[in-house]
Amino acid sequence: MELRKDPITRSWVAIRDGEPREPAAEPCPYCPGNAAPPPLLSLPQFADAPQVRVFPQHDPLFRIEGETARAAEGIYDKMRAVGAHEVVVEFAAHDRRLSRASDQEIAQVLEAYARRLADLKRDDRFKYVAVYKNVGAAAGQRVLHSCSEVMATPFVPRRVLHELRSAREYFQMKERCLFCDMLRQELRQATRVVEATEKFAAFCPFATRSPYEVWLLPRQHHHKFETDPRRTTAGPELARLLRHTLQRVEQVAEGYHFVLHTAPNVAGALGRVGFWVSLEDDFHWHLELMPVVARTPRPYIAKEVYFTTVSPESAAERLRGFSVSDP
Ligand SMILES: [Zn+2]
Ligand SMILES: [Zn+2]
Ligand SMILES: [Zn+2]
Repeated sequence: MELRKDPITRSWVAIRDGEPREPAAEPCPYCPGNAAPPPLLSLPQFADAPQVRVFPQHDPLFRIEGETARAAEGIYDKMRAVGAHEVVVEFAAHDRRLSRASDQEIAQVLEAYARRLADLKRDDRFKYVAVYKNVGAAAGQRVLHSCSEVMATPFVPRRVLHELRSAREYFQMKERCLFCDMLRQELRQATRVVEATEKFAAFCPFATRSPYEVWLLPRQHHHKFETDPRRTTAGPELARLLRHTLQRVEQVAEGYHFVLHTAPNVAGALGRVGFWVSLEDDFHWHLELMPVVARTPRPYIAKEVYFTTVSPESAAERLRGFSVSDP
């Protein structure tokens, strides 16, 4: 596979011939004892029956070996798809779901994300490490055993890059974090808040991209998920809010994408050129939940212009109204 840069939009595109190979559904590759390779990480560590196991993805989009070998082809830029692609198998039990898991189990999954993020960011070939999860067939979930994916890439994905640029420009003008300011206003207005706890908040964004989109943020500023001390000191509180939010979204959507946005890796060239000098102050980690509610494929215009048929104010009101439960 090769990465090519669109010189007009400046987005990197992964190009290969052929569909990704699906793992065999039977027997489940992620049930303990089945034919998975040795895990890269198990939690709790050294447990006989660990809850979380992280494996290399069976048909990775990005591969760990070699250099990125950035090269030009006339006016175009390309590089090798160097990176990492891993699967975080969240539970030993085949039918366990994150939205029904206990505080401790959810905290363990989040800890696995943090450890893989920290480990992969030690490699300065990787500019960004993405953590995401597809839930439901409508959202592209292929394996029924509950899992998330971790992907390290030699570039910063487009959406995150837009966020980083806006956050940096806002900080240059105001010396304040854009996300902190947004969160303060959301909590004051309260019309789009889904649920807020002492240290975290979930709300529907003002310019929502799709119906029932929800963001979850720490109320105190921190740029990096993996090093935010509140992830552990307020672990049960974060786990509870995440569980509630997932349960609410599951009541309106057939499926959803779950994405963690955290600071990029500035260990490499990006850090040396000082591109992200104010990163610690200007970026604010968050989780984004993007529900898939449309039963029919969306028309072309939806790919160029975001439009939603449920306002975030109505979405938040409906999501707040759902009952949620704790195990
Ligand atoms: Zn399984
Ligand atoms: Zn902030
Ligand atoms: Zn984001």
